[in-house]
Amino acid sequence: MASHLSLPITITQVTKSYGKVFALDHVDLNIKSGEFLTLLGPSGSGKTTLLTVLAGFTRPDGGSLKFGDTEMITVPPHKREVGMVFQNYALFPHMSVAGNVAFPLKLRGISGGEAARRVERALEMVRLGGFGKRGVDQLSGGQRQRVALARAMVFEPRIMLMDEPLSALDKQLREHMQIELRQLHEQLGMTTVYVTHDQREALTMSDRIAVIQGGRIMQIDSPRVIYERPANRFVAEFIGESTFVPVTVASGQLTLAGQVLKTAEPLLMDGARLLLLRPERLRVLSTTEDPGQGFNVLQANLVHTVYQGDSSLMQVSMTDGTLLQVRSASIGPTDGAQLSPGRPLRLALAVHDTVLLSTEGSPS
Ligand code: ADP
Ligand code: MG
Repeated sequence: MASHLSLPITITQVTKSYGKVFALDHVDLNIKSGEFLTLLGPSGSGKTTLLTVLAGFTRPDGGSLKFGDTEMITVPPHKREVGMVFQNYALFPHMSVAGNVAFPLKLRGISGGEAARRVERALEMVRLGGFGKRGVDQLSGGQRQRVALARAMVFEPRIMLMDEPLSALDKQLREHMQIELRQLHEQLGMTTVYVTHDQREALTMSDRIAVIQGGRIMQIDSPRVIYERPANRFVAEFIGESTFVPVTVASGQLTLAGQVLKTAEPLLMDGARLLLLRPERLRVLSTTEDPGQGFNVLQANLVHTVYQGDSSLMQVSMTDGTLLQVRSASIGPTDGAQLSPGRPLRLALAVHDTVLLSTEGSPS
């Protein structure tokens, strides 16, 4: 189970339609050898379809799929040597843990001592060493999911496909398993394509995230770039909290409520844009505080505050009536919950957080 067994995946112009619906619309995606890539998108965006194309259960209408240098489109599922874990992990309920994990080996004609050794090693990987004799029905949800994982890994696949494998688990266990899966990936290094609709899960686990919508890849980047520099409004809206303010760039300058703002990227073209503001990146300044170079200072008035435990969410109004949201930790003198409505506020916004998006795809 070493990283030299992993393979890059090259997806070129893969299309699959059902009637008039494009489940996949000319998808191009290069997944690196050993990479943990997450497909992130809302329900119906084409995630499962793409995964089943990789697994060989769905034949695309067109396009090419390569594992390494080998064209895979016509290769049947059982010859693709990919490990798979799905949401409904479909263990055989009347078989022991070891029986379940040994199943893929049996299909490949591996039995006896060799099979037993591999099963035990796979179980140790998922921290279920010694559990082989137990019945599947004696296990917790998290343990069952780990059995499914051991079963997917036992034949040492070069590629691992996972479709929302944690979505049936409760929040605490899910977060624990996210870290475990990630660590396991670091240990084994097989190329992994992971599907989720949960943005935090994607940010936590991935080397890169491919955001998919309507069968199209909207952006593929590291979690940090996806969050800090979303390619468009859809990506920005889908990941994290955001306020979008329609603005105009004129004579190479961005002006908001009468104030000129410095921006993260140079303004090369005049015209309409959307200013993307993340509520947690706006900071309420104390009356005399000067945030210094590298920050824009916005003048606003507090409209109201919602206390949410770990933080407070303030709605503020700029002098031209533009409404923004500001999230602040619910501690300290600038805790929004301690401020009264109507109070004037100065907000600091780092220049590198002053990000403009094109207005394309936004409702007008
Ligand atoms: P996701 O996994 O992101 O929720 P899917 O890949 O399951 O999305 O589905 C993408 C689109 O393709 C949806 O509009 C879905 O209704 C459609 N679709 C998927 N599989 C089939 C099928 N077997 N028959 C008809 N439509 C399908
Ligand atoms: Mg799905």
